[in-house]
Amino acid sequence: MEFSRRDALTAAVAAATTPLLGATPVSAAAPAADKQAPSFYRYKVGDVLVTVVSDGKNVFKLEDSFITNVKKDEVSAALEKAYMQPGTMTIYFAPLVLNVGGKVVVIDTGNGAAAKASTKGANGLFADNMAAAGFDPKSVDMVVISHFHGDHVNGLLTADGAPAFPNAEVLVPATEWKFWMDDGEMSRAPAGRMQGLFKNNRSIFETGLKKKVTPYEWNKELAPGLLAVETIGHTPGHTSYVLSSGSDKVFIQSDVTNNPNPFATHPGWHAIFDQDAPLAEKTRRRVYDMLVADKLKVQGFHYPFPGLGHVEKDGNGYRVIPAPWNPTI
Ligand SMILES: [Zn+2]
Repeated sequence: MEFSRRDALTAAVAAATTPLLGATPVSAAAPAADKQAPSFYRYKVGDVLVTVVSDGKNVFKLEDSFITNVKKDEVSAALEKAYMQPGTMTIYFAPLVLNVGGKVVVIDTGNGAAAKASTKGANGLFADNMAAAGFDPKSVDMVVISHFHGDHVNGLLTADGAPAFPNAEVLVPATEWKFWMDDGEMSRAPAGRMQGLFKNNRSIFETGLKKKVTPYEWNKELAPGLLAVETIGHTPGHTSYVLSSGSDKVFIQSDVTNNPNPFATHPGWHAIFDQDAPLAEKTRRRVYDMLVADKLKVQGFHYPFPGLGHVEKDGNGYRVIPAPWNPTI
């Protein structure tokens, strides 16, 4: 017997008009929940335990300026095609915590405590979710930063401006550090977003951390099996990582793309936050062609949670196939 769409509709109508439990009142009904479970997700890469910790999401109205080289209508149509809400864009955030070589290593830190307050808990959730996953910020040995945008560095400080990871060494890409700490670059920064970024970085790294950071170079191991690799364009020192252990490997891309919809599906689309957009596109195509050729797993900071997947070539762009949720580690 074939179950048709008509059957499904009929069943839905029947369900709506017939109480499933008959006339008996249910006295022990659970109250409707208004909160999601703490959002963290674990998987192994060889001997390394990776915990993806959600910092939440940001939903905003699509503006003409969001993608600089494509009309808003075309962007909106692409989002609708991916079953996203037309006229709005959603960005997710997911820092990582690694248990590697007996150490606890955090990669990027989310939007921070001020964002949690200003967004009423839509983002800035890294600290809460990290605690829910069983990590004490005082036990973090090392924090690795991929680049100096607020959604990656603001969680370095607590709500009162103190270091959020008081016992951790903070590693920053040397090129990124040089650019954002350069007074000449800061004085030449265009008004608006770029000036705001300089101001934010000075406040985090000078006022907050008193410049106590360790700059790192590309193609160096920062922790056992954690290799920093150059993926510039998004920012001058933007960095990704290859995490390997035994024969297992994952590419931690940081912001090579933002949300795969529309930025992996349309690698030629230039988001407002790519500082050197043509270079960011070149990097994106180079990295994604490599992910496809090597069938390499990828972990995306801005992918929908938990952000682990594979990439395939699809027409002129790429398709991300999310890894299925694994109830065991
Ligand atoms: Zn980002």
